[in-house]
Amino acid sequence: MRSKIIIANWKLNGNWSFNEEFANALSKGLQEIDLKDRQIVICPPNVYLQQMNGLLLEKSIFLGGQDLSDELSGAFTGETSGAMLKDFGCRYVIVGHSERRARHFETDDMVVKKTMNAISAGIIPVVCIGETQEQRQSGLMKEVLSEQIHSLVSGVADQIGNVVLAYEPIWAIGTGATATVEQAQEVHGWVRSEIERVNPAIAQKLPIIYGGSVKAGNAPELLEAPDIDGLLVGGASLMPREFLTICLAGL
Ligand code: PEP
Repeated sequence: MRSKIIIANWKLNGNWSFNEEFANALSKGLQEIDLKDRQIVICPPNVYLQQMNGLLLEKSIFLGGQDLSDELSGAFTGETSGAMLKDFGCRYVIVGHSERRARHFETDDMVVKKTMNAISAGIIPVVCIGETQEQRQSGLMKEVLSEQIHSLVSGVADQIGNVVLAYEPIWAIGTGATATVEQAQEVHGWVRSEIERVNPAIAQKLPIIYGGSVKAGNAPELLEAPDIDGLLVGGASLMPREFLTICLAGL
């Protein structure tokens, strides 16, 4: 059985006092709870990694980066490498989020390079894939996802077993328009079958998590779906009570 992973993507949010209050509330809320192998991951902005590393002492809470460089070191102003994230205690890193693909023109090739950099730094990449509303409505969803999946699978080759996939329909991110459980499960099942075609040994083990307007209200049913192995949470991860409820959903 695949265990569940719940990831908070704080994006460009947080500050010193908010972070402290959040970490204390979360640690307190999770104390003495049997999370049954469930992992909770907080991805704050990089500048707060050290602060959060010192605050998140509960053993089931891990730290993650929101992005990493496709380079390893050198003259790349503003970049952060996988090794640096590792130094600051990161166990996970988000790769190829749709906001990075759209605003920073990240291509599938860059996503592969970043994924490999994360793996070689000893960090688990959480690779995001997803389609726009327009692509879904014009019947291109599977084509778009298939291109993202196969570029990743062929690019990382036998390292695919070290990846977490995140299906994030772009039309559901930050819009309040969550995919229904049926829609999400259908895509997750199909993504798994695509992986199965190229790597049958890995497909059943690969965690595929869902992201897109997840809230406390829809988290339990999403987590019940057989191919949804966790949640990537944006807006709702900035509300400590709401996020805690999501972390505990279905336990
Ligand atoms: C995200 O950005 O990864 C995300 C899922 O955001 P939200 O939960 O706000 O839709």
